[in-house]
Amino acid sequence: MTEARHLLRCEAMNEVTLMSTPTKAVPALPDAQIVTQVKHYTDRLFSFRCTRPASLRFRSGEFVMIGLMGDADPETGKVKPLLRAYSIASPSWDEEMEFYSIKVPDGPLTSRLQHIKVGDEVILRPKPVGTLVHDALLPGKRLWFFATGTGFAPFASLLREPQTYEDYDEIIITHTCREVGELTYGRDLIEALKTDELLNEVIGEGFWKKIKYYPTTTREQSLKMGRITDLMKSGEAFADLGVPVLNADTDRAMICGNLAFNLELKAMFEDYGLEEGANSRPAHYVVEKAFLD
Ligand SMILES: Cc1cc2nc3c(=O)[nH]c(=O)nc-3n(C[C@H](O)[C@H](O)[C@H](O)COP(=O)(O)OP(=O)(O)OC[C@H]3O[C@@H](n4cnc5c(N)ncnc54)[C@H](O)[C@@H]3O)c2cc1C
Repeated sequence: MTEARHLLRCEAMNEVTLMSTPTKAVPALPDAQIVTQVKHYTDRLFSFRCTRPASLRFRSGEFVMIGLMGDADPETGKVKPLLRAYSIASPSWDEEMEFYSIKVPDGPLTSRLQHIKVGDEVILRPKPVGTLVHDALLPGKRLWFFATGTGFAPFASLLREPQTYEDYDEIIITHTCREVGELTYGRDLIEALKTDELLNEVIGEGFWKKIKYYPTTTREQSLKMGRITDLMKSGEAFADLGVPVLNADTDRAMICGNLAFNLELKAMFEDYGLEEGANSRPAHYVVEKAFLD
């Protein structure tokens, strides 16, 4: 572990130890954590932060199961937790957990989760897993993050992970959404890196200059319209970014979007000569679904 990461982890662990001392809010549910912050972005998107289990270790980019208690079964009266997979949006060293969520109007979990408030409890199963991790990629020069919608969440973690900047000369993050308001969470997060004193001190002053941010919208008018896959196929995205087409010698990539997006990018990557990696077999790119269908 590098000195910088060790420093950040030590700081986080000290905080975790302090927070595990019960204060006034003591969780009542098993695996319950306390909500510490909620921010709404649009009528479809919000983020929240909660306490972190003292024993939870994870790699930036992984996901966990989170949820709420379900309604009582009308026949048995028993209640079961209602859990869904969520990318951890906070980095591995953070003393709290952050999540970035959709609000599905009739979604079993998010129709309720969208109403959580500071002080409420959420269930967090402390078993992190996932493929969007540095360990699943071979060393490279340029790292690409490709996201649609809430697929930005694992990259919100990795963009605050010192290893990202230690391992790569350049980080390109593309984020495609339907409307401009859906870009706010990601845009604000990247903007905040510029004034993050701890990260600038630990990773190095101006580390954020390695990032090239490429947001696009498909429905609402914005500075750059279109699906990132189309913009790459036409060459426009590469010209805008001032970089060549991805190649196996220099480029590594992580994809997190809807199924159609993931499949389209995978097919493009195979044409570029990139191979898909996994935790057990690192290669040139890794993929994860932002939601199930
Ligand atoms: C590995 C993994 C990681 C995930 N990480 C996140 C995350 O960080 N943030 C997040 O909001 N969701 C994430 N999801 C999706 C999440 O698990 C739930 O599907 C989502 O919270 C909705 O739950 P629900 O019970 O309200 O509705 P569900 O019954 O789960 O979903 C209802 C329908 O809503 C749509 N939908 C579900 N999730 C999304 C989404 N994120 N964006 C757009 N449409 C969606 C789908 O069409 C789905 O059929 C992830 C899923 C997987 C498999």
